[in-house]
Amino acid sequence: MAFKKDYYDILEVKRDASASEIKKAYRKLALKHHPDKNQGDKDSEEKFKELTQAYEVLSDEEKRAAYDRYGHEGVSQGQGFGFNAGFGDIFNDVFGDIFGSRSTKRSRQKKGDDLRYELKVKFEEVVSGASKEIKFKRYEKCDSCEGTGAKKGSKPVICPVCKGTGEIRQHQGFFTIARTCYKCHGEGEIIEDPCPVCYGTGRILKERKLEIKIPAGIDDGNRLRVSGEGAAGIYGGPAGDLYVDISVEQHRIFKRDNENIFITVPISFSQAAIGCEIEVPTVDGKTTLKIPAGTQSGSRFTLKGKGLRRLNSSLRGDEHINIIVETPVDLTSKQKKLLEEFAQESGENTHPLKKSFFEKILSKGRG
Ligand SMILES: [Zn+2]
Ligand SMILES: [Zn+2]
Repeated sequence: MAFKKDYYDILEVKRDASASEIKKAYRKLALKHHPDKNQGDKDSEEKFKELTQAYEVLSDEEKRAAYDRYGHEGVSQGQGFGFNAGFGDIFNDVFGDIFGSRSTKRSRQKKGDDLRYELKVKFEEVVSGASKEIKFKRYEKCDSCEGTGAKKGSKPVICPVCKGTGEIRQHQGFFTIARTCYKCHGEGEIIEDPCPVCYGTGRILKERKLEIKIPAGIDDGNRLRVSGEGAAGIYGGPAGDLYVDISVEQHRIFKRDNENIFITVPISFSQAAIGCEIEVPTVDGKTTLKIPAGTQSGSRFTLKGKGLRRLNSSLRGDEHINIIVETPVDLTSKQKKLLEEFAQESGENTHPLKKSFFEKILSKGRG
């Protein structure tokens, strides 16, 4: 048998070192000599092997006692003890995730899907906000098996092929090749006796009713996120989220631009000329608007604070009123006569825009 170095010397610890001192020492030295860090370096590889061998013995109470008493003979006889045995366990135990997980084990638990719901909202519901009940189908945890997928009274069992590790390891010299277990698909557990209600999936499709709060001022294309109201997680994983996509129905007369409202109001040509008071709709009900004498078509009036609520704010936008003057149609002969009289009475001062427009055309023609 070749000469073997003392395990305590290898780990650079005293013979009476505590378990945590040994672990610390191994961690420090193994990190330094880890083959991932020293690729192609034969000495480091040897050193790392040595360290791991020493640690495997000294970290195990029984093996350490045997080693203390009988030396190398005490731990190498008849135990089939070799470097590869338990290597993965030691590694995970000491390093956890430092080099990324060595294990290919996948959790059976998976997050549930996010769901999307399209919700139509009436214009009126945007004004003050609303609460709406929605109904949709989603996967929920199976009550019978409480989401485990195993028949009531039974449990998922450790996979007999991979012994719960989720992988099948093959040792090739120093390296270990791990493949996902074919039996449990890497989950480490299998269901021997599936739940008859959910066929072992742990979830069943159910209808869900949910109250959705629509905030005042919400706009077409906005999206609300309801956390945890998506599909249930798989085998106890977290639930997905529900996304509610809002579409706001168009109003018959109100047009909107964010929190501002636009409306077009026709008035008669005599109302525009003489001046009047008209009733205009607002989201709060009707209000009176004074139209001064001589108002032109296309004039704009603003009702401050009569717009919609700005989303997540107490501020309100404005209502903008666009006036169009309607030319009278289908005149009776009496109306025609009156207008002809009116026209004869009208001088240049009655239509100042028209006057200046034709003056411009004439001056251009002369030039
Ligand atoms: Zn079930
Ligand atoms: Zn397996």
